[in-house]
Amino acid sequence: MKYFTLFLSAVLSMPISDAAAQLAEKLDFNIQSASTSEQVLAVSNGIDTASLPVKIIRGKMDGPVFSIVAGIHGYEYPPIMATQQIMAEIDPDKLKGTLLIVPVANTAAFFGRTVFYNPADGKNLNRVFPGKPEGTVSERLAHLITTQIIVRSTVFLDVHAGDAGEDLTDFVCYYDNQNTPEQTALASRLAERAGFPLLVVYPFNLSKTEPAEYAFKHATQQGITALSMEAGKLGGVQHKSVQRIKTGIYNILRELGMYPSADKPAPRPVILNRQHYIKSPEKGIFYSDLKSGDTVSKGQKIGMITDVFGKIIADVNAEQAGIILYKIGTPPVNKGETVLCIGYHARVK
Ligand SMILES: [Zn+2]
Repeated sequence: MKYFTLFLSAVLSMPISDAAAQLAEKLDFNIQSASTSEQVLAVSNGIDTASLPVKIIRGKMDGPVFSIVAGIHGYEYPPIMATQQIMAEIDPDKLKGTLLIVPVANTAAFFGRTVFYNPADGKNLNRVFPGKPEGTVSERLAHLITTQIIVRSTVFLDVHAGDAGEDLTDFVCYYDNQNTPEQTALASRLAERAGFPLLVVYPFNLSKTEPAEYAFKHATQQGITALSMEAGKLGGVQHKSVQRIKTGIYNILRELGMYPSADKPAPRPVILNRQHYIKSPEKGIFYSDLKSGDTVSKGQKIGMITDVFGKIIADVNAEQAGIILYKIGTPPVNKGETVLCIGYHARVK
């Protein structure tokens, strides 16, 4: 909390005791064409406060609203660093439509260096969408993103990476929402052209009212064209993954007719439309020689788990052939946690 309080105070250039009264609750979306605006929104439950930095880049001509959110998980750095470069590079004079960029959605987790969870309330921001106006600080922050960013979006992109303990191979993904075929077709086209080597398609079977939990799943449920990118791993800033996210964003901008790009169309990705999750049978220390991106066969031994004295207590086997999308990449593992996710392709009727 200490870091966050300092940050908020610095951003708003006022004593923190006065901040609550003057925090902007709503985005001022009415800015001139061919201009930019940097705003910091905030929500508070009276005890904890969360801030949401937003950059609006309004193009010279009218067009779609493309929202890019990074840092919903504050320890996932390649998305955050890619948006830093995008914000510096985009020329509003060449832009058609509007870019809404959130460079760090979870500033408390970012400055507090916490994995997944907001230190203020211990909640994972990407499990509380659409959020609650009267909830905990994470729930209020989700509600703010829902009402100020998601609802304004023609296309909503939520960018993630492998967190501090996750070994992940880069991929782009969307939900196959059959209720909104037009939006799903656009999400599919944008994902295919984004330039990632792997495209993961998630099944979508939420009712209209069930909480979606995840930001881009909520956008999908609301009939907005939504997709996500996962690039980078283990809490690092991998240059290749930062570049891949940037290229992906520029490719999507070009596909939407929003921004010129000299890049050649990207090669088509391998499409993986099913996921198999392997949960840990025990709490202990996880050993594996395999890496994300490796291909595994059915029945193959993935690794093993020992107790803290080094005695083997479980083997971990692949129950499905496919590609390891992500796996636990550091020693600790808890019972019931996802040890790895295997992506594979199944023929659709
Ligand atoms: Zn994440």
